[in-house]
Amino acid sequence: MIPKTRKLVAELANEMLNRGLTDGTSGNMSIMDVDSQMVAITPSGIQYQHMTADQIPVLNLSGKRVWGECKPSSEYRMHIAAIKTSPDIKSVIHTHSRYAIAMACTHQPLPAITIDMAAYCGTEAPIVPYRTPGSDAIASLVSEYIRKGFLAMLLANHGTLLVSHDPEILIEAAEALELAAMAYIRGSIIGSPHPIEKDEVDKLLEMVYGEKRAI
Ligand code: 13P
Ligand code: ZN
Repeated sequence: MIPKTRKLVAELANEMLNRGLTDGTSGNMSIMDVDSQMVAITPSGIQYQHMTADQIPVLNLSGKRVWGECKPSSEYRMHIAAIKTSPDIKSVIHTHSRYAIAMACTHQPLPAITIDMAAYCGTEAPIVPYRTPGSDAIASLVSEYIRKGFLAMLLANHGTLLVSHDPEILIEAAEALELAAMAYIRGSIIGSPHPIEKDEVDKLLEMVYGEKRAI
């Protein structure tokens, strides 16, 4: 199972780059292999283009590297803490996508204003207050926000974090969040973006997650 999981992390990291969710080596993603309870995570500071499975380190749930030559992402504490928050969370993505980071830098939460953001992320991506990147402090704060029921969040002055039971859904969710942030920022130039009503958000969430919602 682990070789398959490492391969998927490498493929989705590449996808993160191709979809414009990251520049350079920013951002990271992880997938938990349920059978072994191990986490495959992107390596630190390595370009995502042409990334291969053998570059993907594997950690146990204490954050110790058990496989792979490359150093794990410097945000591994945040990934492991997010995964440990709920047995339904199997995958985590952190991006520095351009419009979402603009919201994060102005400390403005992003309400669900597009149908795809509502369907993948729920009613709101809140602002998680700033903590040092890579620290235990940001890891435990993110876990707190996941426990409040958020699937997607904006890390103040830093980027985004999203969780899901399904890594393929997670990439769609990160793209939906970025598109909504773009719509919010550009929409604010010509008017006031209108959030979708909560009962409608629930219907849209149901379409993507059915019974399988992570939180
Ligand atoms: P890594 O290359 O260590 O994953 O760091 C990227 C990042 O986004 C740090 O917040
Ligand atoms: Zn980052």
